[in-house]
Amino acid sequence: MAYEVHDACGVFGVWGVPDAALMAYWGIFSLQHRGQESAGIATWVPGTGGAGRIEVHKGMGLVSEVLSPEQEAARPGSVAIGHVRYSTQGSSSLANAQPLVMDSRYGQLALAHNGNLVNAAALRAELARAGAVFQGDSDSELLAHLVARSGHAGLEDALKAALARLEGGFAFVVLSDAGLFGARDPAGLRPLVLGQLPDGQWVLASESCALDIGGARLVREVEPGELVRIGPQGLDSDRFAPPVPAAACSFEYIYFARADSRLGDRSAYVYRRELGRMLAREAPAEADVVVGVPDSSLPQAMGYAQELGLDYDLGLVKNRYIARTFIAPSQSERESGVQLKVSAVPEVVAGKRVVLVDDSLVRGTTSRFIVQLLRQAGAREVHMRIASPPYRHPCHYGIDTSRDQELLAARLPLEAVREAVGADSLAYLSLEGLTTVLGGAGFCTACFGGRYPVPVPGRSGVPAAGVVH
Ligand code: AMP
Ligand code: SF4
Repeated sequence: MAYEVHDACGVFGVWGVPDAALMAYWGIFSLQHRGQESAGIATWVPGTGGAGRIEVHKGMGLVSEVLSPEQEAARPGSVAIGHVRYSTQGSSSLANAQPLVMDSRYGQLALAHNGNLVNAAALRAELARAGAVFQGDSDSELLAHLVARSGHAGLEDALKAALARLEGGFAFVVLSDAGLFGARDPAGLRPLVLGQLPDGQWVLASESCALDIGGARLVREVEPGELVRIGPQGLDSDRFAPPVPAAACSFEYIYFARADSRLGDRSAYVYRRELGRMLAREAPAEADVVVGVPDSSLPQAMGYAQELGLDYDLGLVKNRYIARTFIAPSQSERESGVQLKVSAVPEVVAGKRVVLVDDSLVRGTTSRFIVQLLRQAGAREVHMRIASPPYRHPCHYGIDTSRDQELLAARLPLEAVREAVGADSLAYLSLEGLTTVLGGAGFCTACFGGRYPVPVPGRSGVPAAGVVH
């Protein structure tokens, strides 16, 4: 099966504030965990006599490397959108950095998106046949071309028609002289929330943590299949697709969202602590101390320890100034990256039976290294506990994982995974345990169970054969 470009990203949009670009800067700064490859901000610069134009600043790297608050504070315009991008190697280029700016019959548009379309290849071929010329390989460009080619008189109808043709996981923010638009895929796979500033202006963001910094309060999620339009009239809501069963990404709860972001009625942190508690009930270990892989797995480790009345301690410390290792292009780079990222504290683990809790195990690079690290620091036993189910199927909706053959649990039975990571015992949270903590149905768990809520061309939806657990 062809491997598609995956964009796990963060988006932000604000309308009607004097320092829109600066607010977008702090917004995407707070979403940095969602993407470290490129960053950008587009603003609508008003012109004389009502005319205006879009101005974009973007580049490869972290928000603080590409943009500066001083420069953004000096930009005119009261509307802005921002984007951080995180993609697989191969698709990494400035042409894919967002926001993307395009001229259309509706005037200039700037688009930023998070997610992955499962019908991107089909749409791209169709548009290319019709004469579309692509600058990069991002899904935003597909939407822009669909909008540009729509026969509708107004931008809002053109957007609705174009969005209705998209299949997969997506959250878009679109900037135009007709206002700021936000849209979320019909299953709600990718997140998008609406916030409001104390003076009533609306803000759109991938996660609520990006609202807090500008003083906005979380109002609600953009509904799956909803198109919101924010402008001088306030906020209008419309649907571009009929309702389908909800399938919010469970991996946002497990790992992706920042711990202080609100997901539904609770913060991601609280869900993660509960995942740890559930894991402890399902797979207790006889141990002296519980240690989490910093930083993303500390709430799970704490919950695990609390549930069993075990000691929780910081047996691993993290070097804060290292970029993520997960998307490094080669296995050796990933391994040396993990080595630079964490080290063990011998006083905490020496001579002890250690439970090592991680939020997920994908390729196993992190676990293998950390188990070894704990042993070198004197741990007597290392019991690995994963606070999510075995990750066996690639995500096609916008979370960058890896190909089928790289997913350790897809290739190997449990005992062989344990051996590969070198732990004394290994257990995962069950799929039932995960859905119980999340509160029942309405979530995508395709990467664990293989049931893709939105059909993926070329994938049967049947879990990998021959794996016994
Ligand atoms: P691995 O080392 O390949 O088994 O990956 C698992 C580790 O990477 C866990 O410690 C997670 O915290 C982290 N992780 C899991 N999924 C992702 C992702 N999509 N992007 C970045 N990091 C991830
Ligand atoms: Fe999220 Fe996994 Fe579904 Fe992708 S497949 S949207 S990572 S739950």
